[in-house]
Amino acid sequence: MSKRSELSDLKRTAHHEAGHAVIASVYGFDPYIATVVHGDGFRGQVKVTNTFLTSVIPRILARWMLYDLAGMAAQDRYSHSRHAWLLGGHDDIKQFTDDWYKLHILTEGRCGDAHAFEQLTALAVKQFWYAIRDLASLLEERKTIEGDELVKTLHNLIFTSDFKQPPAIKDVCPLDGDGPFESPDLTDLETRSKALRIAMEGKYARES
Ligand SMILES: [Zn+2]
Repeated sequence: MSKRSELSDLKRTAHHEAGHAVIASVYGFDPYIATVVHGDGFRGQVKVTNTFLTSVIPRILARWMLYDLAGMAAQDRYSHSRHAWLLGGHDDIKQFTDDWYKLHILTEGRCGDAHAFEQLTALAVKQFWYAIRDLASLLEERKTIEGDELVKTLHNLIFTSDFKQPPAIKDVCPLDGDGPFESPDLTDLETRSKALRIAMEGKYARES
């Protein structure tokens, strides 16, 4: 890989990971490591503290799904393209899709589709671009930021005097309070969401 394309690869990956970290943080999750590693090209990772409640409480799951999409949204905003799903976004799309089917079951179809989530994520990424851009620069330089330092860095970058509340989740998911809490049984939820996915994907395949 040439030095020039290596540098653009690093910048793109750094913006992707910074997008995940900042959006996770503004929607109430705690990232504990953000990293870009050099292997065959650059790959990165953000890890966030998470519990099983994320998967079964709709208003938490819906926010988590913005974090799923935020890496691709930030990468696309940085590169003025819509290629993130091809360049490093596969795992994110898989995670988002799994989560979407769970949410669909938990809320009996009351939340928006993937496009609605993408739009809301793009809005949030635009609003917090000032923090994403600065965290990406730090990641380019440092490659890994973790623990308390990451928490403090995110806090300082996000909560400036210009801070405004992020776009409301009710714009894609009109839930009251905790929303319906239909199935706290995660295994059952996973089985049912897989079955729904197979049924719905079969339906789209026949229609197209
Ligand atoms: Zn990602």
